Amino acid sequence: MIGNFNDTWNLIGKMTPARIANASKVFSSYHYSRFTGKAAHGGMPISIAIEPTTSCNLRCPECPSGLRSFTRPTGMLQADLFKKTIDELANTLAYLTFYFQGEPYLHPKFLDLVQYASSRKIYTATSTNAHYLSEQMARRTIESGLDRIIISIDGTSQETYEAYRVGGKLDKVLKVRVLLFD
Ligand code: SF4
Repeated sequence: MIGNFNDTWNLIGKMTPARIANASKVFSSYHYSRFTGKAAHGGMPISIAIEPTTSCNLRCPECPSGLRSFTRPTGMLQADLFKKTIDELANTLAYLTFYFQGEPYLHPKFLDLVQYASSRKIYTATSTNAHYLSEQMARRTIESGLDRIIISIDGTSQETYEAYRVGGKLDKVLKVRVLLFD
């Protein structure tokens, strides 16, 4: 409960006058379209999602990355493209979802890119299978300014965990809780 309050307060703290004005444009144009039936679009994105990489170390059976079944190439986000996008949007952008399919920590510059967005006071969130969160990476994660981390734990024993997280090691994931939160 207190964690949720702090998280919300943290997000609110990133809302500059330009971001609030932009969000108002987006919401008002949405409601205008809804009530009049006429398409209208105002403002710039409030929130964007960027995938750091399509590659993954695990083989989860419902995931295109785990199944190695992408129709697009497996690869890494280009740092220059990311920075250019952030530079163009930072004035009005409040929230960056920095994951989709693929394990973000496999990107060699992932935390540098988090730091780049964070330095522009954009709220950053990611999700990880936590197999690369060594003590050093855990420290770097905290120092990067990342605001939210989702850690996938899908079982309470190695057997139940690996039923979905194929190739994963539950003990590695549980160690991360100690590194990040204790
Ligand atoms: S850990 Fe995540 S990205 Fe990797 S295969 Fe599983 S669901 Fe997909």
